[in-house]
Amino acid sequence: MRYMKLLFVLVFLAYAITPEMKLRRVQKDIYMVRGVDALPSMENRGFMSNAFAVLTEDGWVVIDALSTPELSKEFVDNLMRVRKAPIKYAIITHYHPDHWYGAKTYKELGAKIVAHKKLMDFYQSGEAQLALENAKQRFGDLFKSVVLVPPDIVVEDKYTLKVGGKTFEVIYMGPAHTDNDLVVYMPSEKVLFTGDLVLYNRIPFMGDRGASSKGLVEALHKIKKMDAKVILGGHNEPMDMSAVDFTLGYVQFLRENIRKAKEQGKSIDEIREALKDNPYRKYVMYDAFHNANVFRVDAELDMEE
Ligand SMILES: [Zn+2]
Repeated sequence: MRYMKLLFVLVFLAYAITPEMKLRRVQKDIYMVRGVDALPSMENRGFMSNAFAVLTEDGWVVIDALSTPELSKEFVDNLMRVRKAPIKYAIITHYHPDHWYGAKTYKELGAKIVAHKKLMDFYQSGEAQLALENAKQRFGDLFKSVVLVPPDIVVEDKYTLKVGGKTFEVIYMGPAHTDNDLVVYMPSEKVLFTGDLVLYNRIPFMGDRGASSKGLVEALHKIKKMDAKVILGGHNEPMDMSAVDFTLGYVQFLRENIRKAKEQGKSIDEIREALKDNPYRKYVMYDAFHNANVFRVDAELDMEE
């Protein structure tokens, strides 16, 4: 009896830590899978970000590629159960592993990959390959089948895609979360895909080499002016415009308080100490990202002066 109980607990735990991929319909013709709120690990298979798909009369347009070809394959299998149709385009919102590393699946199925010019630069410079090799060492087998896929269509400021009766405006918003952030706006549906720019009750990550907190504030102001009813981001449930205020609130809180502390001559350690008790501590990913964000904003403010 005791063993049965133990077995039950183990089976339950296995299910609890291995997130299942479940395709959900957000609204007519728009689907998503929702990753867990965590850093990548073997346990979560790197399934810690969202991917989206829009069904058009000519086939699917997907937004983001998840962390591995295995995950994107599972995502596509789910889509094919809704409608067996080609994957026409795959738009990559930025170069982070959990948005780009699964792109091989789409490419092999004949999709055209769309990404920003700075992602292409990162790929062509060889830096992306180094980063991948690093990730392969750090995370064991998690990224073993990842192959980098460069974009077929390179976006600079704006690119409009018309597919099977639907319009997708791909707009550059960087440098913000990275130097290659794209958002995708569907004007008729008033749906906006925002990659990692907009987060709700979750701490944004500004530790990337190309990140800019000042740029993120500007991007969020631009997003606020857009006519979007639904915001679909890389890490949350579907959101509305109030999420933009949440993200903006955190970034501005950091910028204002760190600026003040610097004016008082405080060192980075004193700044971290002074900011220890803050209203954002309770939110998801705080422990993983907050300190890196403080360092980034501190360094950025030095450059801005
Ligand atoms: Zn990201």
